[in-house]
Amino acid sequence: MAINRPKGTQDHLPDGSPKLTSDISARAFSYVTDTARRVLERAGASFIATPMFEEAEVVKRGVGGSTDIVRKEMFSVYYFGDHGGYVLRPEGTAGIVRAYLQNGLKQLPTPLKLWTHGPMFRAENVQKGRLRQFHQVDYEVLGSTDPLVDAEAILLMVQVIQGLGLTGVQVKLGSIGDPEDRDRYNSYLRELFTPHVERLSDDSRDRLERNPMRILDSKSQADQALIQELQVRPMLDFLGPEAQQHFEAVRGHLDAWEVQYEVDPSIVRGLDYYRRTAWELHHQHIGAKSALGGGGRYDGLAAQLGGHETPGIGWAFGVERLLLALEQEGVTLPESEGPLLYVAALDPEHIGVAARVALSVRAIGAAEFGYKAQKPGNVFRDAERKRARYAGLIGSDEAAAGTVTLKHLQSGEQQTLPVSELVAYLTGQAAADMPASQALDSRA
Ligand code: AMP
Repeated sequence: MAINRPKGTQDHLPDGSPKLTSDISARAFSYVTDTARRVLERAGASFIATPMFEEAEVVKRGVGGSTDIVRKEMFSVYYFGDHGGYVLRPEGTAGIVRAYLQNGLKQLPTPLKLWTHGPMFRAENVQKGRLRQFHQVDYEVLGSTDPLVDAEAILLMVQVIQGLGLTGVQVKLGSIGDPEDRDRYNSYLRELFTPHVERLSDDSRDRLERNPMRILDSKSQADQALIQELQVRPMLDFLGPEAQQHFEAVRGHLDAWEVQYEVDPSIVRGLDYYRRTAWELHHQHIGAKSALGGGGRYDGLAAQLGGHETPGIGWAFGVERLLLALEQEGVTLPESEGPLLYVAALDPEHIGVAARVALSVRAIGAAEFGYKAQKPGNVFRDAERKRARYAGLIGSDEAAAGTVTLKHLQSGEQQTLPVSELVAYLTGQAAADMPASQALDSRA
């Protein structure tokens, strides 16, 4: 029986794997999450982790009962003796806001900036860039309605993109107004589409009843053709004075920071809890699934989950989409560093000594040891393959004298020194050798 991973999932593989391609490289994956961590933690965001499954009700209320995600794409979780109504999380925001409310995070200084990354699950039709288990980097800010927070959130997304070295990315900015603005817009759409109901897809007929705005981001070509033909007015035309003012303030900050964006009046985010600012980042060259990420303000969400009114805003990047974009642009990833030391014994009885030497060096850096005795030439060869900075040998002379023979692989310089001095010696050398990129973080 062949063993296969489930449809719509990916293995992210270590360097050297025979089936490795750059979009499933574990190193590229970490490059994305490390870059996001650096940008977001510099901006004061704290890491948060929430469960991968939540009560279905949290997701239903959080994401919205009329969305495709809730209606068609949820993975239910059952376990022995319990049909407890859990689902795998399809996105991060509902769980984070649930955690904020449940754990009294309101006590923390406001606005509270949180970030996370991890797998999300949606039972979608699988295609390139659309998976059933995919990964997101999420950023959420709770406790402020200030448009400055919105602008900073968008800027941080742009800085993650810049930190990754991507260039072909466009920010599309819109506003979906306040609930009363959306009510007016939905009435307009209902009147507009009702005479053409027979031309709408089944899904969109249903949307016409529940939430006509959803029709606008329909995946059906027939729906999209009708939308073009009817020259549907955009949500932006329906903003009330407060939402309008908020939108202009966000734009003012972005302009002042010279963040490039394009106003896209047609933006309708797929999730029900969004208010006012909404945006998406698109990549020019990754085809139909071009959205790298998106975000929006969700002031109504906390109350919808049964908590106290708490304004919020957040965004999510799709990690796999970023990997496709990195591949598409041919961005060179930083090489992973080899260990500081690879040390091996020349005789089986000294393997334990070599291991102890490596374990002590791990206090200051990466160090590996040979599990078998090796000839000196093979120790050097393996150290080079691992791209170690130093190779260490423990022969019987070294074992008897409590020393190690050390070779700096780049210069070929060799010396024997007491094991008791090794850590101090390598610490000094490591500082002297440190690549400029590590001494001073130059990206982002
Ligand atoms: P959303 O939570 O729907 O706003 O999605 C945010 C981002 O996550 C999107 O812009 C995509 O980059 C990514 N994403 C959403 N769904 C999928 C999926 N099924 N497969 C891969 N990436 C996805």
